[in-house]
Amino acid sequence: MPEPDSTPPQIYDLHCHSTASDGSLSPTAVVQRAHEHGVTALALTDHDTTAGLAEAQQSASAAGIRLIPGIELSAEWQHQCFHIVGLGIDPHYTPLADATHVLQNTRLNRAEKIADKLAKKHIPGALAAVMAAVGDGMITRSHFADFLVAGNHVNSQQDAFDRYLAKGKPAYVATPWADLAQAVNWITESGGVAVLAHPLRYNLSSNQMKRLLTAFKDAGGRGMEIVTGRINPDEIQRASLYAKNFALSGSMGSDFHSPDQWVELGRLAALPAQIQPVWELLN
Ligand code: AMP
Ligand code: MN
Ligand code: MN
Ligand code: MN
Repeated sequence: MPEPDSTPPQIYDLHCHSTASDGSLSPTAVVQRAHEHGVTALALTDHDTTAGLAEAQQSASAAGIRLIPGIELSAEWQHQCFHIVGLGIDPHYTPLADATHVLQNTRLNRAEKIADKLAKKHIPGALAAVMAAVGDGMITRSHFADFLVAGNHVNSQQDAFDRYLAKGKPAYVATPWADLAQAVNWITESGGVAVLAHPLRYNLSSNQMKRLLTAFKDAGGRGMEIVTGRINPDEIQRASLYAKNFALSGSMGSDFHSPDQWVELGRLAALPAQIQPVWELLN
């Protein structure tokens, strides 16, 4: 009789947010919730910041789960914003740390402009409210959406994006994000693995997707998300085909932001068997 395998299977969730950006739970609460939902290896990937990682690491050690230091960088390629998840990064690597400080300023400048635009639409007070809510975390459009919901200017977060915050809407502000190759470099040179986040959410044609993945690979990108919070089996198949064709490994992450969303930590379909798991690239 073969010995039973003594290492229990790992449950990965490699994409989520805390109050360091637009999540509603503290890094500690995110880690505890992940643990309660059976996650054994969690990457905290806040937008353009690593500020939550130290707290998350402490809580993960206490809970006995593995914390993979992460980030979700906003990056630009051909005038469109893409999200690049960095896994296994070193938050103390100076160029990456410097980049997060620049991005904090970029986001503050953008927030001032968004608030001005909302004021012109007879919605005053957005900047002060958003800054009070954010504290020293990263300001995102989600915070403006919450402000608009709280003031009954819109019915939901989605409504806030549809009516004010999305590209082409009255309070949209174009933002000078880092170049895609630059963002990939910061991650790679800090010792991390660059993963294209939620690739099917950008509404690209198949030709555009191929050009994006070519640019991403050329820059040193090594993975893409295959299983994300709201994906269906057909989409998992489509994403897997791209990953195979471009020899990218596959990642899985909920993109959890808050308990009142229906995307839960760790509640993810399995990675298809023919895909190399991105965690095999992490040390
Ligand atoms: P930002 O990086 O500041 O532009 O904010 C982007 C964040 O806003 C995303 O990470 C989502 O959490 C949220 N978001 C973007 N688009 C939408 C949308 N259409 N509906 C709801 N939330 C959105
Ligand atoms: Mn977000
Ligand atoms: Mn994203
Ligand atoms: Mn995200």
